[in-house]
Amino acid sequence: MANQNQIRKSQSLGMNFSTADYRLKKMILFSLLERHHENICYRCDLPIRSVDDLSVEHKEPWLDVDASLFWDLDNIAFSHHKCNYAKTRTDTIARKTEYEARRNQGNGGTAWCRRHQRYLPVADFAKNASRWNGLQSECQECRAKNPSRQSKKLERTTGNDPATSALATLRSTN
Ligand SMILES: [Zn+2]
Ligand SMILES: [Zn+2]
Repeated sequence: MANQNQIRKSQSLGMNFSTADYRLKKMILFSLLERHHENICYRCDLPIRSVDDLSVEHKEPWLDVDASLFWDLDNIAFSHHKCNYAKTRTDTIARKTEYEARRNQGNGGTAWCRRHQRYLPVADFAKNASRWNGLQSECQECRAKNPSRQSKKLERTTGNDPATSALATLRSTN
């Protein structure tokens, strides 16, 4: 039940305060993602250009599976709304075709680097058996320049990057 303070805030903002609060947190999250060059869709590898197109999703479904998956930051991914929506469609064949069409399949021994945002020779990529093309989504040079998830996790625990800590806090409160 909304208290007097919440009602005043809602009236002042011209919208439900919880909705406004959620929107603000999402805007902060998006701006941090942009600053860290992590505003990249986990499904199609293309940049997410606006906060309205940002969808925060769980890679592995947690409901009726394991509640700890809900809080697992490694299970969180960012995607375009349309890419996330495509996932939930029951028509799996149409969905698969759509993904394949959207994927940046390089010609003649090239693959898409999501940080460079262009095609590079396959030889520049490390192998990743869990990905659809068997290669990492970033070239080796980009991976060397940008800390991997693993080293980010270490940064987070040592807390030497305020933006990363803020991001971790935001992620865990949503
Ligand atoms: Zn996408
Ligand atoms: Zn690259």
